[in-house]
Amino acid sequence: MSCKKCIESPVIKLTNSPVSLCKSCFIKYFEKKVKKTISDYKLIDKNDHIVIAVSGGKDSTSLLYLIKKIVGERKDIKITALAIDEGIHNYRDESLEFLKGFCKKLKVNLKIVSYKEEFGKSLDEILKTYKGIPCSICGVLRRYLLNKKAKELKATKLATGHNLDDEAQSIMMNYCRNNMAISARLGPLTGIKKDERFIPRIKPLYFLTEKEVTSYAFLKGLMDNFKECPNSQQAYRNNIREMINDLELKIPGTKHSIVNSFLEILPLLKEEYSKDSKLIKSCLKCMEPCSQEICKTCIYIETVIKS
Ligand code: SF4
Ligand SMILES: [Zn+2]
Ligand SMILES: [Zn+2]
Repeated sequence: MSCKKCIESPVIKLTNSPVSLCKSCFIKYFEKKVKKTISDYKLIDKNDHIVIAVSGGKDSTSLLYLIKKIVGERKDIKITALAIDEGIHNYRDESLEFLKGFCKKLKVNLKIVSYKEEFGKSLDEILKTYKGIPCSICGVLRRYLLNKKAKELKATKLATGHNLDDEAQSIMMNYCRNNMAISARLGPLTGIKKDERFIPRIKPLYFLTEKEVTSYAFLKGLMDNFKECPNSQQAYRNNIREMINDLELKIPGTKHSIVNSFLEILPLLKEEYSKDSKLIKSCLKCMEPCSQEICKTCIYIETVIKS
């Protein structure tokens, strides 16, 4: 059997189709899909400053490489990579070293922001006393810093490496928890309506599966290995991931169907929940946007980090 497009040997079977492609046709397919997502959803505008959230993982590394490849030569567009150093020994230190070399090679400015400098403690130090699930606190601190630092960098877009699997999981998690207001903020271009306290988030890898992104990163030689965070404990997401992967095996196309049917109702969700978005307040302590008087990060700083 040869590649669907040429006579070479195939290296990958596409997730939502019987088509198998060789290395070079797969890379073309992948890059075309990213460009189409950017163009269909108008993810990038003239004079944008795109801050790309990078972790050294396969998704954000592929994203950084591709954004640089697609718009890196445009004079009106600025690109900055933003990495959060949570302070996880034997993990983040290694990925930051990789990122420094990768960004230097791509000639992209890399800004590193650490929990230690911003909050006074690294995640390793926080976890000595915090007995909850590491990702609960880390996820809140990380999202907080990404938005805050992207604003300080005067970003007009914050690009993240979310893929189709991530989005299908988030959609199902919100359904199962009856959290449609949170789902209204999903999609390739996030946000309900313009609010200068939030930098709009863009997800150019939105329509590519995790398997496709992993294959791209390795076939392009962007990285030769990657490590999982030793603290990764996302029990709820993992259950949903397993459920969707199992369904995908039994009913191929499930992941695409979840995301595509969600996209059909997303405009209605945005309309419905845009009424609530004026309820977003500014935290009384740090002025960052939040739904309560004090944001979750400031609560963690007072109750966990300083204790
Ligand atoms: S996996 Fe969890 S603990 Fe590790 S960096 Fe991500 S959010 Fe933080
Ligand atoms: Zn081919
Ligand atoms: Zn706050």
